[in-house]
Amino acid sequence: MTCPANHPKLNPTVRVTVTGAAGNIGYSLLFRLASGAVFGPDTPVQLQLLERDNPNSAKVLKGVCMELFDCAFPLLTGIKTTSDPKEAFDGAKAVFLVGAAPRGAGQTRADLITTNGPIFKTQGEAINAAADRNVKVLVVGNPCNTNAYICYHHAPDIARKNFTAMMRLDQNRSIAQLAAKTGKPVCSVQGAAVWGNHSKTMYADIERCTIAGVPAFDLVDQDWYHDFFLPTVADRGTAIIQARGKSSAASAASAAIDHMHDWWLGSNGRIVTMAVPSDGSYGVPEGLVCGFPVICTGNGEYEIVKGIELSKEGKERLEKSVKQLEEEAEHVKALI
Ligand code: NDP
Repeated sequence: MTCPANHPKLNPTVRVTVTGAAGNIGYSLLFRLASGAVFGPDTPVQLQLLERDNPNSAKVLKGVCMELFDCAFPLLTGIKTTSDPKEAFDGAKAVFLVGAAPRGAGQTRADLITTNGPIFKTQGEAINAAADRNVKVLVVGNPCNTNAYICYHHAPDIARKNFTAMMRLDQNRSIAQLAAKTGKPVCSVQGAAVWGNHSKTMYADIERCTIAGVPAFDLVDQDWYHDFFLPTVADRGTAIIQARGKSSAASAASAAIDHMHDWWLGSNGRIVTMAVPSDGSYGVPEGLVCGFPVICTGNGEYEIVKGIELSKEGKERLEKSVKQLEEEAEHVKALI
């Protein structure tokens, strides 16, 4: 990598906010952000890290910052840590909302919404007050779709389309399973998409997927798709907790990097999955933050892929997931 000091045409520094920076995902995410993996080798990055105001988080974050410093990343121009949301979002052009409680043992999804929902109200307000007017927001903290929905309602001065939630991990898990099953490289798997809510109701769609140019359903059969693929992708988070004793962190961080990278720089015509505020496409009520196949067209823009003919099963699965999003929206009505 060229030293920024000698770089002939360096882009302006991007201020990037990460919340929950002292957590597990934060630990995997920050180093790749600072290395240039998201914004490219010509774009310096300033990290603005938000943590809760408690001594343990502050201590951990101090250690993380020491490690970031020790990496001597050429593109990392500065690190600011704070527990004040407005300070954290000041001038931010890219925001990763990771800080939230993971689902605890015995906790229902509704409990998690009640715990985490208010965080995204406060942060939406702070983003509205302090961030760049064209800021790109990626919500990772669960339930990420509904948290993004809460967040944009509290940021009326920023375009709704700039608030997204992460379903790229579900897409990456789908691609990895298909590549392993067929013995083909992951990059040969194109057009896999995940619709709906980031939950067990999501619809992992391979109807239009191709693997090395061949339709996926010519290479895998319906039994494998229904009996292995769908449950494996839907339950992968639980399987990782059982194996590792901790939730997926590195793969979640990697998916967050993929999501923001493609949004910022474009997906080169490839279909990728993002949860975005619905424009009414495919009968999804306007405003719900729903997983769709999108194409990122570069310069921070994306478009929902239109005109897909979903199968009867696909329509039913999407409807079920959208119903859950509607129930969650109803649950957080008081926060909107
Ligand atoms: P950790 O528990 O390791 O870290 C969570 C971090 O968030 C901690 O640093 C915690 O701070 C912080 N935090 C908690 N509450 C707040 C708050 N009110 N304001 C600011 N920060 C807060 O969790 P992970 O990093 O493993 O996971 C983070 C989130 O990402 C979870 O909600 C998880 O469910 C979600 N996730 C989403 C995925 C997706 O595909 N969308 C995939 C995997 C995970 P403190 O140290 O003070 O407790």
